[in-house]
Amino acid sequence: MTTIVRKATDGRIVLPQAHRNNERTRLSMSSVKALLVATLLCSGVQAADPAGRNADTSEPGPGVPSYELLLKGGHLIDPANSLDAPMDLAVSAGKVARVAKSIAAAESKKVVDVSGCYVTPGLVDIHAHVFAHGADLNVFPDVYALPNGVTTVVDAGSSGWKNFPEFKAKVIDPAAVRVLAFLNIVGAGMMGKIEQDENEMDAAAAAEMIKRFPETIVGVKTAHFLKPGWTAVDRAVEAGRLSNTPVMVDFRELPGRSYEDLLLKHMRPGDIHTHMYAEHIPLLNENGVVNEFVREARHRGIIFDVGHGAGSFWFRVAEPALKQGFIPDSISTDYHKRSALLPNAGMVMTMSKFLNLGMPLPEVVLRSTVNPARQIRRPELGTLSVGTAADVAVLSLEKGNFGFVDSGHAKMNGDRRLQCVLTLRNGRVLWDLNGLSWPDWHKAGKYKVLN
Ligand SMILES: [Zn+2]
Repeated sequence: MTTIVRKATDGRIVLPQAHRNNERTRLSMSSVKALLVATLLCSGVQAADPAGRNADTSEPGPGVPSYELLLKGGHLIDPANSLDAPMDLAVSAGKVARVAKSIAAAESKKVVDVSGCYVTPGLVDIHAHVFAHGADLNVFPDVYALPNGVTTVVDAGSSGWKNFPEFKAKVIDPAAVRVLAFLNIVGAGMMGKIEQDENEMDAAAAAEMIKRFPETIVGVKTAHFLKPGWTAVDRAVEAGRLSNTPVMVDFRELPGRSYEDLLLKHMRPGDIHTHMYAEHIPLLNENGVVNEFVREARHRGIIFDVGHGAGSFWFRVAEPALKQGFIPDSISTDYHKRSALLPNAGMVMTMSKFLNLGMPLPEVVLRSTVNPARQIRRPELGTLSVGTAADVAVLSLEKGNFGFVDSGHAKMNGDRRLQCVLTLRNGRVLWDLNGLSWPDWHKAGKYKVLN
């Protein structure tokens, strides 16, 4: 592993700036093996104080505590900063204030013992459906995202250039999780039959809406177009060109419309093909070998994203592709009411599937944090760099006998499963599976609602 941390004169670890766009973090085999060997179970977390409370509210030493919250004793994985080691993380004013080998409990008003857990940047899921008052299959973003450690969820085209303001007012603005959006090239968004109407696909109108909300709309989406021809893809790419944003493509081959032409002739470098391991995508040739044109597309800068969904993640495509080194640039869920059930496509479960397909945990984290953040051109997300929003996931890695289901409802047995035990958004605890951050009720006095 390339160690690029350094110590400042006061002893604190200073983190470097995030790597250049698209640069992949290299992790040595020794660090990977060390992680795989370690059995890390948050469920056995030891209390921070002898009274049996995980929240250490003991009196600090001399001076006023500088931090509001301290995650102490965890194993931190922050691929953007090449960090993969036991480290503490302190939060102040909603930002990451310090990351160091050891930060004294007395320096923080609240201390959460996360020993036995992995501490990662808040996860970034760039393909979900959270226009809860709009399209049928959509879910409320907080309810899906926060229990999954997802602190940035990107809606993938549920709304279009006609109804995005409604989506923003009713769902995005009230949400606790950060919600961003790819804007559907179809003005009405994902509303069934109207997705086939070319008159709804207006590149100029879509680009105009993107420019109106540049802080929230990260690109353009095209999906579900079942007529022959390239109208949907080409108008989405035109909207991307006019707004200088990437396009996410959900694609199906038809006579005269090939996957090869999509990747090599219609998409631009930086555009994202989602559903890469879908059964209907010819990633592999008839001999099960990754098609050469797919590798060529990656070489020219096309991004490949998982987009699990109800129909788009198949072990019989993913496993041979992974064995041949064709790994996803980003792991995303295509989470909605149907993918949430039998295929169990939530973020930590999708990450667990890759773990059990042989991808080392640091690589899984890389593809669930900083990689997707860079794809949507938000490099400040998906990292634990000092000064960034304290969006943090604390994950436990359970060991045992587990089964994982793909979109065809077939099973893969596995021995490791991730769980999200704690999620911080802007430094606030918004999900806490085991009450790690709260005192035992016997000792909490006549509490109302604790903060
Ligand atoms: Zn989708």
